[in-house]
Amino acid sequence: MTKIHEISNILLGWYRLNKRELPWRDDRNPYKIWLSEVILQQTRVQQGLPYYWAFIQKFPTIKALASADLDEVYNLWQGLGYYSRANNLLKTAKIVHEQYSGKFPTSYSDLLKLPGIGPYTAAAIASMAFGLKYPAMDGNFFRVVGRLFEVDEQANSSTGKKLYHKLGELLLEGVDSADLNQAIMDFASAICTPTAPNCDSCPLISHCQAFFNGSVNKYPLKTIKNPKKIQYLYYFYTENKLWIRQRNKNSIWNNLFEFPNFISSNPVDLNDKIMQVGLYEDEMPFELDGNPYYLKHHLTHITFHIYILKIFSNFALDKLWKTNGFFVINPKDYKNYAFPKPLLDFITNHLYHV
Ligand code: SF4
Repeated sequence: MTKIHEISNILLGWYRLNKRELPWRDDRNPYKIWLSEVILQQTRVQQGLPYYWAFIQKFPTIKALASADLDEVYNLWQGLGYYSRANNLLKTAKIVHEQYSGKFPTSYSDLLKLPGIGPYTAAAIASMAFGLKYPAMDGNFFRVVGRLFEVDEQANSSTGKKLYHKLGELLLEGVDSADLNQAIMDFASAICTPTAPNCDSCPLISHCQAFFNGSVNKYPLKTIKNPKKIQYLYYFYTENKLWIRQRNKNSIWNNLFEFPNFISSNPVDLNDKIMQVGLYEDEMPFELDGNPYYLKHHLTHITFHIYILKIFSNFALDKLWKTNGFFVINPKDYKNYAFPKPLLDFITNHLYHV
């Protein structure tokens, strides 16, 4: 038995004893596996489970999901962020229902063509639902494999991707690829964790090059990221009225609802009790009512400093907002509208104590 084959068998042995019981693992159903993978791109397993159950309960089949409205999908997705993924979820469901008679395509290359399905998700579905030999390469995979073999390439470089893929294929040779991919996922989150791996109780300790060389903390090699853009986002609401409107389709948080706002690449001086800022191309003075609510929100390429400001209502502002497509809702009806996560958190935790 080769060393790499021995590693696969040890991982599978560990998995048989320590496997997490997860609902999408019961019957190798591609719909459930795909849904769980899309949700878990946003969150950890424990936080993702309630979302998974909510979707399965409301849309038990791909046919049910394909006939949903985008608003229904957004409502269930609230709190997960990255709404473009919810959008793609619905698009893929419709394509699978209409073009593939409700059955997921069974080849890796056809899976890759579906909206929102990248190499990792395609490999996860191909291996876990159809038993194909594709390594599911995510952060967990890079960590375990990077340490076991001391991979001296960054996972996002083209040489790194090829090398990791080759090692993944060798690990899958002659074993059940669904089980091995899932074994690596579970092993990475239980034993070979990012900051404090449990090497003392690791069944692979005698095969691990990074442990042998005392270089565990070095692997996987850190990837170099571009610095994030910083933006200042100011939202407004008034004591007695909640003005909202739906964002347009080609923006971040597309189709979600928002308060009147403006965005700036520089901070605005909030110490002025009466401020004058550019709201929708008009200069409009307004007066702050109390202290602003502040939070920081991170997206992949942008960090937002968000200020949510209560201001005194006045006729001119109402008129301005109305002409810019806003309408008034009763705050207690907020659940009928899907908001971006920062606004939803603010509404549920602070606004009017709803
Ligand atoms: S010995 Fe430590 S670093 Fe190596 S695979 Fe096991 S847990 Fe990970």
